[in-house]
Amino acid sequence: MSVRALIAEDDSVSRRVLQATLAKWGYDVVVAHDGQQAWEILRQADGPNLAILDWMMPNMDGVEVCRRVRSITAQRGYIYVILLTAKGRKEDLIDGMDGGADDYLVKPVDLAEFRAHLRVANRILELQAKLLAAHERLRDQATHDPLTGVWNRLAILDALERDLARARREQAPVSVLLGDLDHFKRINDTYGHDAGDQALCQAAKRMLSVIRRYDTLGRYGGEEFLIVAPGCESAGAAALAERIRRRMAAEAVFTDQHPLTLTISIGVVTGEGGGPDSASLIQAADQAMYRAKGAGRNRVEVTVLAAAVGLT
Ligand code: GH3
Ligand code: MG
Ligand code: MG
Ligand code: MG
Repeated sequence: MSVRALIAEDDSVSRRVLQATLAKWGYDVVVAHDGQQAWEILRQADGPNLAILDWMMPNMDGVEVCRRVRSITAQRGYIYVILLTAKGRKEDLIDGMDGGADDYLVKPVDLAEFRAHLRVANRILELQAKLLAAHERLRDQATHDPLTGVWNRLAILDALERDLARARREQAPVSVLLGDLDHFKRINDTYGHDAGDQALCQAAKRMLSVIRRYDTLGRYGGEEFLIVAPGCESAGAAALAERIRRRMAAEAVFTDQHPLTLTISIGVVTGEGGGPDSASLIQAADQAMYRAKGAGRNRVEVTVLAAAVGLT
């Protein structure tokens, strides 16, 4: 994939030479006639990652553009900046590098030298992209369950805290559904652990197909799943749980070797206005889930919390 590069240069002759040269070398080039325009282009979310900025430009000089670019690194990712300066002003370059520039070139630009500097830029940008990808992979691993791909225990608990905080601000309900697959030990014992793993993945997929877009599904433990449903009243949560229960039992799950029947028992609880705390909600959902087990499994049970009294 070609690197997107911005050339900001007020002198039209230099600009055209640089533009043609970079295009010939395979860059995807955009140009700006002054510093203000350069900044407008660079601040865009999908803007270029390489900026070649003339130092002296109308409206905003190259160093100021560079300073601003550095202030948005968190949102925009790293932008490699090369400053262009006229001969004899080399002493200014300390300022330029202090302003966050990665490199500089003295005008008139020697093309062989320019190309060598661009190779350095490419190396840094490639490293940067690899680091970013590695970072994203790590973040993904830290928040997702490797077997089913849904959020892991830590992440689903985070989601619950986040939704409770919002519910507190908006005085809205949050429902918690705790689902536990029925007799899962038997499935492992009968069909083997691999088939059990595949069944877990299918179960997660079925739940994902039923929940709403703002609901979050996570693997809470072995064969236990937690669903956080913000803005969902008790009746809606019970209906959601019932849809999941039915979807799970409706048809056999196919593993490599055997079709097998899965059922789930779900405990449901709804908190109002961001309360009670996450631990109390999970405990209440857990109690409801155990009642569902006791009542024969493949069931939904709802715990109704005592209404909070003495609200401010
Ligand atoms: P109940 O209806 O009472 O929930 O019965 P159960 O057998 O599902 O409950 P129990 O807690 O006795 O057993 C849970 C089983 O889930 C045992 C464990 O081996 C299995 N399990 C947990 N995690 C995994 C996993 O990642 N893969 C597979 N294949 N099995 C798992
Ligand atoms: Mg200039
Ligand atoms: Mg269990
Ligand atoms: Mg179970």
